[in-house]
Amino acid sequence: MGDCLPPLREVIAAHGLSASKSLGQNFLFDEQLLNRIAAIPGDLSDRNVLEVGPGPGGLTRALLRAGAQVTAIEMDRRCLPALAELGEAFPGRLTVIEGDALKMDHDALFDGAPYAILSNLPYNVGTALFTRWMGGEAWPPNWTSLTLMFQQEVAQRIVAQPGSSAYGRLAVLAQWRGIARLAMKVHRSAFTPPPKVMSAIVHVQPAAMPEGVSAAKLQAVTAAAFGQRRKMLRQSLKGVAGAPDALETLGIDPQRRAETLSIDEFVAIARALTR
Ligand code: SAM
Repeated sequence: MGDCLPPLREVIAAHGLSASKSLGQNFLFDEQLLNRIAAIPGDLSDRNVLEVGPGPGGLTRALLRAGAQVTAIEMDRRCLPALAELGEAFPGRLTVIEGDALKMDHDALFDGAPYAILSNLPYNVGTALFTRWMGGEAWPPNWTSLTLMFQQEVAQRIVAQPGSSAYGRLAVLAQWRGIARLAMKVHRSAFTPPPKVMSAIVHVQPAAMPEGVSAAKLQAVTAAAFGQRRKMLRQSLKGVAGAPDALETLGIDPQRRAETLSIDEFVAIARALTR
């Protein structure tokens, strides 16, 4: 597109945007890579997108070029002038909100309309938001997909299958009513400054919610089961009211360990406790 934007490195230099360690800033400058990330959720033309942590706006400009209507939440005020310039290049298509995304109601930003979420966030904020986006009782959510950068080890935990050491609470949370895939690995050298570890982008779409299961109950079961993952279920689920009986009724051997249980089995236990 002929939007004549300056290269991102020039934007950073012009606005003095040195990456702040305390804000977990690792910027992406490779526009081809950013375009590929923006393409992961599919055609974005005229779709609402929530971007959390746009920083100097690398991914933001890729989203705007893809035709999205973007609302971006950024807590680093230093980035706002660069984002305002970007907004001028795409009139009426970018809304920037200053603040902490953890403290905001994201649905309210779109007046109940559906929106896709894309984000390259610091590890701790990304995991907290992911848990919130995936964890609500109301399903399907207003968001239509999550396209999120994580450190690779966390991404692998999200898409992990039963029986693997990466399988745990995050996998169950992502997969019991969602389709999660590892969409792209991103080498640490793609970031400025490069983080210590490799990264990967996870893409999640909502799927049908199993009937009669409370999300909170399922999370209580997985928290207890994986909180003592080396112990047998008999021991790890002892403190969850009704769980030992549920194992018996469902014919799940209490000598098994959490990581051997399929997502369907966790769902069945949570359903028994929801009744
Ligand atoms: N998206 C840009 C990119 O890919 O180059 C910047 C990525 S940088 C890893 C993460 C950004 O998220 C930073 O600009 C940081 O200020 C912002 N951020 C961190 N915590 C945040 C929060 N709780 N709410 C909103 N933005 C946050």
